[in-house]
Amino acid sequence: MNPPIREFCESGLAGLEAEGLLRRLRVSEPAGGRAIALEGREVINFASNDYLGLAFHPRLRASARESDPRGATASRLLGGNHPAYAELEAALAAFKRAEAALVFPCGYSAAIGTIPALVGKGDFVVMDKLCHACLVDAARLSGATLRVFPHNDLGRCGELLASCAARTAVDGGRVLLLTESVFSMDGDLAPLDRLAELKREHGAWLMVDEAHGTGVLGENGRGGAEQFGVEAEVDVAMGTLSKALGAVGGFIVGSGALRDFLLNRARSLIFSTGLPPGACRAATEALRLLGTDPAPRRRLRANLARVGARLGRELASPIVPVEVGEERRCVALAEDLLARGGWVPAVRYPTVPRGKARLRVSLSASHTDADLDWLEREVLPGIRA
Ligand SMILES: *Cc1c(COP(=O)(O)O)cnc(C)c1O
Repeated sequence: MNPPIREFCESGLAGLEAEGLLRRLRVSEPAGGRAIALEGREVINFASNDYLGLAFHPRLRASARESDPRGATASRLLGGNHPAYAELEAALAAFKRAEAALVFPCGYSAAIGTIPALVGKGDFVVMDKLCHACLVDAARLSGATLRVFPHNDLGRCGELLASCAARTAVDGGRVLLLTESVFSMDGDLAPLDRLAELKREHGAWLMVDEAHGTGVLGENGRGGAEQFGVEAEVDVAMGTLSKALGAVGGFIVGSGALRDFLLNRARSLIFSTGLPPGACRAATEALRLLGTDPAPRRRLRANLARVGARLGRELASPIVPVEVGEERRCVALAEDLLARGGWVPAVRYPTVPRGKARLRVSLSASHTDADLDWLEREVLPGIRA
């Protein structure tokens, strides 16, 4: 017989508490981009993915307000396909210089809908060990066989692709190579040029999650694929509108056929209400700003250069992990920093491996010189170069 559900939950929570892994929500209200009010007290925010400070741009707010604030009222396939979707998808395709784009309720939903639509039983997913949970979950859900290579280990990745190609040559089946452009908890980049070579060599498809690359990497902010010059090699580009673009929603960009196929096969799109039209309008406005106002990207670059100079290395992205290791110590450090005026969250298992807890600093164009002074004084001395 099952234990009462309350007992089951309470003992689970006690176990997490004992390991320093208990999570809880705090009431947190962003205070204009660079700051956050946590349980009523305003502190500097180093936890936001709003890398360009666009979430609080007056034009985003205005565009979201102008349009219908209600929900879409139905799945996009059943009468919920407001004109704001077509505008946003055209803007995304133009921004990424791709044939077509498809918008999902969020990035997680884009992954969960797309990967199982493309691969299944008898197919293979070859993926980086540090891929985001939504890619892992989507790959598992697909029913394909997972082959995981150590983080950015091109040799092992090539071996796995070769063995999958040998299997599929005999038994049929497809191979999907899966990575992200910026790794969300380490801030480093995938060598997309080399991965593109490998996918070509072994005849696989390449899917890149640009959640943290969009708006940040590349000459024009199109992402890691732009930075590495491999946009034409990426078969499936995924991203979110909720990070540097300051809005909400996920997207897939690729060929027109890919878009139409996903529209028919991605269950997270078919069986879910789409984004509120106002959110689409805000995201469309963010793309317009990205293309017309270089100031936020310039400021982000300057902030990265300043922190990088202090650390004695060039920062690959706005994500700067401060290794701590032990979970409870990491949480205590984060609490101490919070008391000193800055929110630098402790990231723990299962977001990162056990014993590899870290403070995760997220830099933004909205951080002022004074904010970075605080960071340099309170946090950076703890970073091993
Ligand atoms: C945040 C994130 C997602 C999910 O995007 P949402 O729009 O927040 O659901 C996907 N992949 C990576 C790497 C992320 O960091």
